[in-house]
Amino acid sequence: MDDCIFCKIVRGEIPSAKVYEDQDILAFNDINPVAPVHVLIVPKKHVSDIMTLSEHEQRAQIMESVIRAVPAVAKAAGVAETGFRLINNCGEEGGQTVMHLHFHLIGGRKLGEKLI
Ligand code: AMP
Ligand code: ZN
Repeated sequence: MDDCIFCKIVRGEIPSAKVYEDQDILAFNDINPVAPVHVLIVPKKHVSDIMTLSEHEQRAQIMESVIRAVPAVAKAAGVAETGFRLINNCGEEGGQTVMHLHFHLIGGRKLGEKLI
């Protein structure tokens, strides 16, 4: 996707603070963190949101790549032992602002009961 900001980050056209990378995933620090640790886990393949992903022929591989990356990102961010929260926002009322599937890994302090 030419004008997708996360595709541009994946292609290296926009800088990011990389936390973890493998062939399917790029994880980088959120530019506007809500906690001491706030990393975005982004599948390199452009899929707009989790509803679209559910219809995607590669949905299993894409989700598997996210699940595989989570412990590596948590370790790299220093929260593997202390714990963290994984959040996906979908659509307008879900608070999604970047239409490229991503998961927020948030931690580094004791979080509130439900959100942040
Ligand atoms: P969401 O609201 O779930 O779509 O999350 C999008 C997230 O992307 C927000 O938390 C933004 O702070 C973050 N974000 C937007 N642009 C950038 C960027 N260039 N680098 C890092 N994070 C970004
Ligand atoms: Zn994209």
